[in-house]
Amino acid sequence: MTRAISAEKTEDDYLESTLRPRALDEYVGQEKAKGNLALFIDAARGRGESLDHVLLYGPPGLGKTTLANIIACEMGVSIKSTSGPVIERPGDLAAILTNLEPHDVLFIDEIHRLSHVVEEILYPAMEDFQLDIIIGQGPSARTIKIDLPKFTLVGATTRAGLLSSPLRDRFGVISRLEFYTHEELAFIVTRSARIFNMSIEPEGAMELARRSRGTPRIANRLLRRVRDFAQVRATGVITKEVADQALELLEIDQMGFDTMDRMILLTIIDKFGGGPVGLETIAAAISEESDTIEDVYEPFLIQNGFLNRTPRGRVATAAAYQHFGRIAPTPPQGKLF
Ligand code: ADP
Repeated sequence: MTRAISAEKTEDDYLESTLRPRALDEYVGQEKAKGNLALFIDAARGRGESLDHVLLYGPPGLGKTTLANIIACEMGVSIKSTSGPVIERPGDLAAILTNLEPHDVLFIDEIHRLSHVVEEILYPAMEDFQLDIIIGQGPSARTIKIDLPKFTLVGATTRAGLLSSPLRDRFGVISRLEFYTHEELAFIVTRSARIFNMSIEPEGAMELARRSRGTPRIANRLLRRVRDFAQVRATGVITKEVADQALELLEIDQMGFDTMDRMILLTIIDKFGGGPVGLETIAAAISEESDTIEDVYEPFLIQNGFLNRTPRGRVATAAAYQHFGRIAPTPPQGKLF
């Protein structure tokens, strides 16, 4: 079953491209990233040059792909999109690079998953716009250089720390995307409802926004689920009550937590006395990939003060205990001196 709350892209999200804002001023929120990019885009356009390479990082569903498309649009150039795991061999990347037009944007999603050999091709391409190709083997092997058009690499990753430092250092602009406020998400949901020709009341939009984990992809997905509910069980209009009932049916609670969030927190609380407990142990206990827990679930739980990451492992906070109506253990009363 497709989980409503996961911020990872699913087949269910084929409608996403219809909802993608196309220009920087339609892109809601992320003022810092937007402000920076607007400035660099203006400057590059003014000089008739390509934009410096851009690295966008942040949890899934916050708008990295959308922003890459907007960058190309604002620069008035084409975008070629690919992703780290798809580029298996150096030849795959060489083919993509030699097919770029001057100033084009090359978008590489999940750039941290590029293999080491492919990454090595990327360094001279990013720095000197050159491809170093080795021809032949053994003592007769030689390197030839091929000039590439000046292009802009836009890389996206869930965590900047996953990138090797030589790759990270080759980006001129590094922008971190933040979780969205409830107001921003309500705005996005209302805009999406308009595009889908749905009727939504402001309180309904706010209810969806509050329970979307600060993530536009989740907000848009919940909107579609709630619409189905509104059509079948109500008058078709998404009111606060309709949103409430539909979200309850989807087992998404007041905080926007779904079954997996509850499982993570309750496992730490009930099985490991509130922690500290290692990520791998939690992953094994709930049969989930540790990467998924770290990239998809944790950022929101940490940002909202339900989980702490300490050097000795994950710890459930007092807010987590309170959320589940549990009593937090009192720390041992040791002497201070
Ligand atoms: P990511 O690449 O970070 O996983 P996407 O760019 O694919 O995220 O965004 C997911 C969906 O969320 C998009 O289809 C888009 O409709 C919506 N979205 C993301 N950011 C914004 C934004 N700032 N304003 C409006 N909609 C947005």
